[in-house]
Formats: sequence, structure tokens, C-alpha cells
Amino acid sequence: MSKYFSRKPGELQAYVPGEQPRNIQSLIKLNTNESPYPPAENVTKAVLKATNKANLYCDPTMLAVRQQLASVYGLTPDHFTLGNGSDELLSFAFLAFCNQATGAAFADITYGFYKVLSRLYATPTDIIPLDEQFCLVPEDYVGLHKTIFIANPNAPTGRALTLAQIEQILVSNPDNVVIIDQAYVDFGAECAIPLVEKYDNLLVINTFSKSRSFAGGRVGFAVAQPSLIADLETIRNSINPYNVNALSQAAACAILENNDYYMQNCAIIAQNREYLTEQLSALGFETLPSKTNFIFTKHASISGEQLYLGLKEKAILVRYFNAPRIRDYCRITIGTKDQMDALINAIKSLI
Ligand SMILES: *Cc1c(COP(=O)(O)O)cnc(C)c1O
Repeated sequence: MSKYFSRKPGELQAYVPGEQPRNIQSLIKLNTNESPYPPAENVTKAVLKATNKANLYCDPTMLAVRQQLASVYGLTPDHFTLGNGSDELLSFAFLAFCNQATGAAFADITYGFYKVLSRLYATPTDIIPLDEQFCLVPEDYVGLHKTIFIANPNAPTGRALTLAQIEQILVSNPDNVVIIDQAYVDFGAECAIPLVEKYDNLLVINTFSKSRSFAGGRVGFAVAQPSLIADLETIRNSINPYNVNALSQAAACAILENNDYYMQNCAIIAQNREYLTEQLSALGFETLPSKTNFIFTKHASISGEQLYLGLKEKAILVRYFNAPRIRDYCRITIGTKDQMDALINAIKSLI
């Protein structure tokens, strides 16, 4: 830390991403929930074309992408805005909807960025424990008078709420925004976007990073009634009106033109998830039911850290969280069937 840093030691707690080694050829990378499938070919073409016009600023309204999103989700473009990844949209949501009075609330075991942001913005925060089975208890969120952040399905547990449970939280918090961060929804959970027309306090945040094979392109999108979107736009335009660059906007359009390809990949990954869960179960693993492209699993005879380190030695990266309640577990991203077979063989040799 330099003598010029304007924050106190320990005031911030920066997010630590999963390892991103650069020589991944010889590695099976199952640690950051990326898709094993590359984007379709039309994305490369669209990006090349956009590159030729990159002397000009990109469209700060991102209209072409918003129109495509509107047609995919059956809403109008003023229900959408975009971020440089959904992480940026989460940051905008904190700036738009959390202050000293409203504060924030989220689960003890959930996406780590919520806590990082609540520190960054010095938001008074309620941390609400998941139950013993790592289920979110909707009753705990009734009438909270806090801005609520819920990852649904949750990470790293993989568990999902039903729309009825989400509605219970929305109805009982009419004076606060409820943010549903559904980064993994396309792998099998109920999508909250159809609730947007009904609830003016619902903000649904989504990403192209997991289900649409575009983690490196950094595109996230928010869906809400136009008045909430306008608030996010005020924040976005106060920070960086060109937050989603021209290449990523072009790619996002190309991806949405080919939406079926990505949704079919999600279905394959969901099958591979069930396959891996069964195989691990036969080896004595206990795995939480997952609606995502990862599983959260533990074994009585090997700690989360031992499994993580053992697999790393065999060139397979998974994620281990050295945190209370979840030290026994590893989070394993679902890849191709071949990757799952390689993983199962490596695990057999470790236990
Ligand atoms: C991966 C993830 C994000 C971040 O996605 P980006 O769009 O890549 O920034 C947000 N929320 C959850 C729950 C995630 O798992």
C-alpha cells in the first residue's frame, strides 16, 4: 500500500477471482464456471467487422443489443441495460439502490462480490444465514427493509428458489429493490424475467459469461421496469457511458441471433451434471442438488482442500473456499463428457 492510498488498512476486501492460469492447454479447467464450448462462428465475424469501425466510439445506448434482448425475452428495449459483465451491474445496483438508510441484505454463503461491494460502498449490511442444508429461507427475508441481493440459483451451493418463493420476497418488501442475480438460470432454474412486468421492485441481473460462452467478452444485462432501468442508466452514465465496448456489443448481438446454440449447450451441460453427480455418488460423495453448471460436493474421507490440491497435482483445477461452513466442499464446474470422465478417473485415484 502506498502512502497515497485514501482507504484505511482493512477497510476494503477486494474480490479474489479463481485462478486463471495462462497455459491452459494441458489443464482441465473446472474452477470458474466457464462454458467448455467456444462461441459460435458468427461471433468471430461480427467482432472483426466491429473492429474495422473501432476508430469511432461505440453506441452508448447499446440499442442493437437491447433490441435483440427485447425480442428474446418478449419485452421492450427500455426494460434492459448492459454492463461490463454482470459484476459491473451489481456495482451499479449498489450505487443506485443502497445507501445508509436502505442498506443491503444477502446470504452468508453466496456470491462473494456482494460483500466486496458492500464494503466498497460502506453499506450497512445484514448477512442472513442459509439453513443447515444450505437452503435460503424466504421467510427470513419477509419485510426486511433492506435492498436484497439473491443469487438464484445460488453460488457456490447450486440450489435454486422457485418463482413462488421469489414472489413471496418481492411482495413483502414493496419499499425495497430485490435483485435476483441469475447468472446460472439457463442451466435449469426458473427464470425471474417474466415477473418483471408484475413487480416494480424487481431487478433481474444476467450474464453472457456462463450459459452464453462469453466470459472473456464481459457482457451482463439487467432487466426491470423502465423506471428502475432509468436509475441504473443514471449511474452508468455517471461512471462510463461506453462501458460495453463496440466489439462486445457486436458479439452480444451475434450471440443472441444464435441463442438456440447456447441453450442447447446448456442442456448438454445439465446432462453432464447429472452424470457426474451419479458417478460421484457411487464413490461416496454427497452433492447438493444443482440447477447450475457446477456442483458443490464433499466426501467423508477427504477434505475440500485435499481434494482441490490432489486434483491440481493431476492438472485439474476446481474451486475450494477456505471459509466457515463450507471447508469440506469443492465446487466443480461441469464441462464436456470427456472432461467429466477424466475428472472421475482422477478422483478415483485420490480417494
Ligand atoms: C459469475 C457470476 C457473476 C459475474 O458474472 P460476470 O458477468 O462475468 O461479471 C455474477 N453473479 C454470480 C452469482 C456469478 O456466479
